[in-house]
Amino acid sequence: MNSADLIVPKVKNYIEGRFLDGDFQVMEVISPIDGSTISSAPLSNRAALDEAVQSCKAALPDWSGKTIKERVQVFFKFRQLLEANIDELSTIIQLENGKTFGEAKAEVLKGIELCEFACSLPQILNDEILEVSRGVECRTSHVPVGIVAAITPFNFPLMVPMWSIPNAIALGNCMILKPSEQVPLSAQKIAALFKEAGLPDGVFNIVNGDRLIVEAICDHPDIEAISFVGSTRVAKIVYQRASANLKRCLGLGGAKNHLIVLSDANPDISAANIAASMSGCAGQRCMAASAMVAVGKVDHIVQHICDEARKIVPGQNLGAVISKEAKERIEGYITEAENLGAKILLDGRNATVEGKNSGFYVGPTVIDHVTPDMKIAQEEVFGPVLAIMRTDDIDEAIRIENNSNYGNASSVFTQNGGLAKYVTERVSAGMVGVNIGVPVPREPFSFGGWNESRFGVGDITGKSSIHFWTKLKKTTTKWNPEAWTDWMS
Ligand code: NAD
Repeated sequence: MNSADLIVPKVKNYIEGRFLDGDFQVMEVISPIDGSTISSAPLSNRAALDEAVQSCKAALPDWSGKTIKERVQVFFKFRQLLEANIDELSTIIQLENGKTFGEAKAEVLKGIELCEFACSLPQILNDEILEVSRGVECRTSHVPVGIVAAITPFNFPLMVPMWSIPNAIALGNCMILKPSEQVPLSAQKIAALFKEAGLPDGVFNIVNGDRLIVEAICDHPDIEAISFVGSTRVAKIVYQRASANLKRCLGLGGAKNHLIVLSDANPDISAANIAASMSGCAGQRCMAASAMVAVGKVDHIVQHICDEARKIVPGQNLGAVISKEAKERIEGYITEAENLGAKILLDGRNATVEGKNSGFYVGPTVIDHVTPDMKIAQEEVFGPVLAIMRTDDIDEAIRIENNSNYGNASSVFTQNGGLAKYVTERVSAGMVGVNIGVPVPREPFSFGGWNESRFGVGDITGKSSIHFWTKLKKTTTKWNPEAWTDWMS
């Protein structure tokens, strides 16, 4: 099948189990690979959201009334369908996001793993029961929250929606997804596969759009909970607006991940991991290595990182960044650092790919002697760029990490267990690694950062998500005569 055949020419909303046409303004969907227009996405209005909410409302009593064992059956089937359609899904992700086919495939595999976690929920969701006084029993039950929404970013068109959809739905909620308007195509396929898997109509809906529809979700009186993943700027807006409307909200934001590299680190392992972390998905991962703090004599490792990074070639094993604006923003950070005296060891500006001249490419970039006061040291660049800061003092390295507003991930590279522990205990990040460039906790461990990388309580995946997508009911019963005491009568 030709990859163009996989792309729907017109993205639609998915409501009540049907893809619907609507009279909306549209936005072009542009493939970062070559800058071509591949589809158009509707910028829906509040009426479309209302329709989706009504569809959830109609489906909720039946869906939430099923046992969790019944509900997860859909996800066993859905998981099979993800696997059977992996090449098609990967091609769609690659076309709309610009990452390499291998990265897109890894994204779908991660989506499958998230689905498997949802399938395991009946084994994990052990409600408690205890005889709290003779003949008096207390039990807990996890009750669905109701109608919920997920708002997602451009960098993982399938995986990030899958952080929320399977767990929320398996736990008995009905969901509305608002995908990124830059990458709305994967979600169309997700909806089609849910239909094929037998998910009842109305349990999962998609409303496409931009800021307006996000605001409408935050304001809608019938939506009880919102998971948001995106930039810190928007996470703050969504968290504040949803909370002001008395909804529960979990808002995952941006990142500035620090890798602390000690002089005894294994040069091969460190260089390979750091180069892969800073350049994977063109640096557009919230777990990407962005700032490296080199402690002591590490020139040989820096050299090694550059050697590894030189093997990463745009259009081959390095994908595109999402847009022309993103390319300009990333290159602007590099130029500003250079003007302030940082040393560019490897320069990815003005990268082009033959035959894809209108694509948005930035080559791997390594910048040495960055100082903590520079913008490139503080702000999220979200491109294949590593900013290296130097210090001789491990505590100073930790201070630099701690001073970041963000707190998604941090890693230390060393062969000394004691020093690794010293650093991991002191960095201020939710996900921490030792000799790992991208310390993503795999299922069943949960995903979530600290500080301005996460607003709200708990993590978005794993067991933590159970608390977010359910409310706990505590029921106390007494039936037998021996319980007819005056205990809390
Ligand atoms: P973004 O914040 O621009 O957009 C995210 C979502 O918010 C989209 O659906 C978009 O339509 C909507 N949106 C955009 N502007 C809005 C506004 N003013 N008001 C209301 N809604 C608005 O993020 P992005 O550029 O799509 O994604 C990249 C960002 O996401 C990076 O900062 C990255 O670190 C972050 N991210 C974080 C995690 C994490 O786990 N912490 C994971 C993936 C991506």
